[in-house]
Amino acid sequence: MLRIGIDLGGSKIELIALDDAGRVSLRRRRPTPQGDYRGTLEAIGELLAAAESELGERGRVGIGMPGAESTLDGRIKNANSTCLIGEALREDLQLLLQREIRLANDANCFALSEAIDGAGRDAEVVFGVILGTGVGGGIVVRQQVLNGANRIAGEWGHNPLPLPGEESLPPPRCYCGRFGCIETWLSGPALCADHLRHGGEAMTAEMICAGAHAGDPACEATLARYERRLAKSLAQVINILDPQVIVLGGGLSNVERLYEKVPALWAAHVFSDVIGTRLLRNVHGDSSGVRGAAWLWNER
Ligand SMILES: [Zn+2]
Repeated sequence: MLRIGIDLGGSKIELIALDDAGRVSLRRRRPTPQGDYRGTLEAIGELLAAAESELGERGRVGIGMPGAESTLDGRIKNANSTCLIGEALREDLQLLLQREIRLANDANCFALSEAIDGAGRDAEVVFGVILGTGVGGGIVVRQQVLNGANRIAGEWGHNPLPLPGEESLPPPRCYCGRFGCIETWLSGPALCADHLRHGGEAMTAEMICAGAHAGDPACEATLARYERRLAKSLAQVINILDPQVIVLGGGLSNVERLYEKVPALWAAHVFSDVIGTRLLRNVHGDSSGVRGAAWLWNER
């Protein structure tokens, strides 16, 4: 079976084709037409037509996108590429591409890719976490995405930070309208805002992590607060889902010390004498989303 994955991102649309063994046989990308829904559909159609003509074969198409389909009418909700919101993306694409497609949230695609042949390849249950501009999550059970009754399974970023304590009060307002969401503490911009809040200078997340590595006390304190919050937040996931593997993606997944510090801290919050859950860095990096989209066709 030829599997084709398309990752519909805010700035680029990426396509890959996977052969039967899961090897990438073709990869293409182009910029996303900004704020233009029809243009976005056309760009996807052109990318796919070019890929299939080059490969001389018709594929099964999976699409990853930022958002979810409403269970009311199938229209897109929760998308940060706002031109998708309210559109019947699945229906429009099926008509345009003349075939059944599979569609999933990009965090779910990330988790699926890592569960199939990445960091979680041997795990029954994988929780995939994106720590980037926002905070997303996805759950994969026995190499299948768990969608859930409301298609929000794994969306832990808009739960409130547990046990905030003095260092995490008052709770900041989140774009979703709630206060103190995990995303307002654990995204890249949240790390920078927290550094400022505690008297630090205006710096990028990368600079703060480099500063901590070099022994700067203010940067070290900021990163330590981040680790405590991440540990408490993931402990709640462990208590409910009890995954074998939690895999991190997004820009902050590159911070090497998280994989040692956070599991040492989460023990205090997990309701178990021993904790077998492993916190791992992703294997496929930026390609995880588009690979996972292709793996939405996962019948063997
Ligand atoms: Zn929120």
